[in-house]
Amino acid sequence: MDLLDVATRFSEKGRFGPIHCGASLPELAVTMGEPQRIGVEKHRRRNVWPRWFGFGDVRLEVCSCQEIDLILLPVRSRETVKVPGFGGLPTLPRVTLTRFDRLVAGEVDDDQAGAVYLRTRPAKDVQVSFAFTARESWDGPVLDDPVLDQVVATRSGHECVPA
Ligand SMILES: [Zn+2]
Repeated sequence: MDLLDVATRFSEKGRFGPIHCGASLPELAVTMGEPQRIGVEKHRRRNVWPRWFGFGDVRLEVCSCQEIDLILLPVRSRETVKVPGFGGLPTLPRVTLTRFDRLVAGEVDDDQAGAVYLRTRPAKDVQVSFAFTARESWDGPVLDDPVLDQVVATRSGHECVPA
């Protein structure tokens, strides 16, 4: 299975195995092991939420209920990405917009800065967004066919229970 397959599946399911929006981080940690803590220093100084955690290269924004609000997989300029359950996936050949758009039925729109987004709605309260960039690096050439930059899933309709 390569990155294109995993991204296509993510567009349909909005999840990497057990990692999905609304999942409980403590429950995931039981089966997957402790996640990496990201930005720990900031947490220590103030009791701030949301907080960021990671499994492999998958980044998770977790709300004060310790549920996953957002899933992020950065792809740009990497040769491999580590996705739990799928191992280290080579990012070459790059996932191009033309190729991906042929496989995935989604809404496509672009912003002023030249990024192109393909969005799907795998579940009622979950939106997945695939950001494509026409520049793979800041000083790189402009590409004819934008390449996958990052994958994001977000949820809506959740209100945190006050502590
Ligand atoms: Zn919450």
